[in-house]
Amino acid sequence: MAVRIDGKKMAADIKEELKGEVAALKEKGITCCLAVIQVGDDPASSVYVGNKKKACGYIGIESRSYELPETATEEELLALIERLNLDDQVNAVLCQLPLPAHIDEKRVISAISPEKDVDGFHPQNVGALFTGQPGFVSCTPAGIIQLLKRSGIAISGKNCVVVGRSNIVGKPMALLMLRENATVTICHSHTRNLREICAQADILIVAVGKPRFIDASYIKEGATVIDVGIHRDENRLCGDVKFEEAEPLASFITPVPGGVGPMTIAMLMYNCVEAAKKSGKKE
Ligand code: NDP
Repeated sequence: MAVRIDGKKMAADIKEELKGEVAALKEKGITCCLAVIQVGDDPASSVYVGNKKKACGYIGIESRSYELPETATEEELLALIERLNLDDQVNAVLCQLPLPAHIDEKRVISAISPEKDVDGFHPQNVGALFTGQPGFVSCTPAGIIQLLKRSGIAISGKNCVVVGRSNIVGKPMALLMLRENATVTICHSHTRNLREICAQADILIVAVGKPRFIDASYIKEGATVIDVGIHRDENRLCGDVKFEEAEPLASFITPVPGGVGPMTIAMLMYNCVEAAKKSGKKE
């Protein structure tokens, strides 16, 4: 029976560590400030934004909210980002996704200053990850690396399969595992023999976005299974993995909820503190 990786506890530990760091920075006259932009009032986005602001409050990071109406133009949004890029009091900026269809998401992501891009989505930060240079890393994959390391799971030399190739999860996840010296296979909707490939993984990371897609037949005995998916199924949360089938087979597994999810916000907070340290903002 697998050990359940307790993401909630690890995220709480990270937030506690960051709280101490933020207090120490304040003593040196350096404050952390995150600007959060939301366009429209999509309920799921509002929940995510609320959780981010709550985490900021707990750690001692100042958060500023910028709520634009659904009808805001791309130019208005870009002008706000430009203002925040130039504001010395703000060292981190994020724009909650998805954006309304009339706004070009890529243009918006590229407009955020790479030094303030705590989501790690700017092409400069993505390129830095690709070439092994310092930069902000997308929060969910960065959180998964922390989950693995804090659970004492060795990565170097392991056979890692990542299912999904999105810019936010799958691709940066594969690059991070490569950086940790895993042998990495990336699978997607055109992959042939997905089941056979997954069944060879020592570490299987699933970000396919389909509820309970991965069953026992995809999992090698003793594998570590990381479930990134999050879905509401008959009013209960579930992941991309059939947990009850995977748990008896795996050696380590993340539950949903309480696995990967809480780590995403913890790593966002980590990135905000890093941004403040780099900018060295004085009060
Ligand atoms: P996307 O929908 O952007 O990507 C899904 C990926 O899965 C695509 O690359 C797609 O391939 C691939 N895929 C789809 N169907 C199949 C299939 N039948 N076989 C193999 N591969 C397939 O999702 P995200 O990466 O944004 O998110 C994945 C999941 O993680 C979602 O459930 C999301 O809600 C969750 N999530 C959770 C977070 C957290 O904090 N816990 C944060 C971010 C996401 P192709 O590219 O060919 O279309």
